[in-house]
Amino acid sequence: MSDKVSRGRLREQVADRLEQLQKEGVWVLSIPERELDVPAADGSLESVEAEALACVACRLHETRTKVVFGVGSPNARLMFIGEGPGRDEDLQGEPFVGRAGQLLDKIIAAMGFEREQVYIANAVKCRPPQNRDPQADEVSACKSFLIRQVEIIRPEIIVLLGRSAVGAVLDLSAPLSRLRGNFRDWNGVKVMCTYHPAYLLRNPSAKAMVWEDMKRVRDTLAASGEDA
Ligand code: SF4
Repeated sequence: MSDKVSRGRLREQVADRLEQLQKEGVWVLSIPERELDVPAADGSLESVEAEALACVACRLHETRTKVVFGVGSPNARLMFIGEGPGRDEDLQGEPFVGRAGQLLDKIIAAMGFEREQVYIANAVKCRPPQNRDPQADEVSACKSFLIRQVEIIRPEIIVLLGRSAVGAVLDLSAPLSRLRGNFRDWNGVKVMCTYHPAYLLRNPSAKAMVWEDMKRVRDTLAASGEDA
């Protein structure tokens, strides 16, 4: 049996089992966290994306229009992670495309980069209904995708946008006012926590703090002497 055929058969078996579990009332499967040195199936971002596009591991798959995997350069030195797709992202299948996305584009441009040079993703890949915060079991079910994205891209710096993204990646629940401003370490990657662009639309006075954070990120990247 060829690899292609056996993988197809395996996929069918997994889909059958998931359907059976749903009939039995199991809606969330906890996927163990992977360490950053565990390779993806064939080592490519595309293979992880293909897996996400077919994912039914948590209840968010029921109400999504499109899986929003991530966008940008697979060689990016800078990665932004938000909490989850909103309405526009769910419809278009791309993260940060609404008003908050336009503001993020301006922030990226002010740092001297283009959107295509960085990588943008979310902690959960499917839209939580009514734009509610992703629940802990949904974040846990989706975390394997995020970890593998980081593992493949290997950015030098990750910017976590908003409280939910900080909770999902660093498992910290302190207020952003205390967490922002300094780099933290996550599996050897520098991480900067800051406010989500949607928060800035509601609270423009916080823009100055985000800009302070982004200048530290920009200057740290510049100090290592390459473009993002
Ligand atoms: Fe799968 Fe993540 Fe979507 Fe849940 S949010 S169905 S874990 S891709």
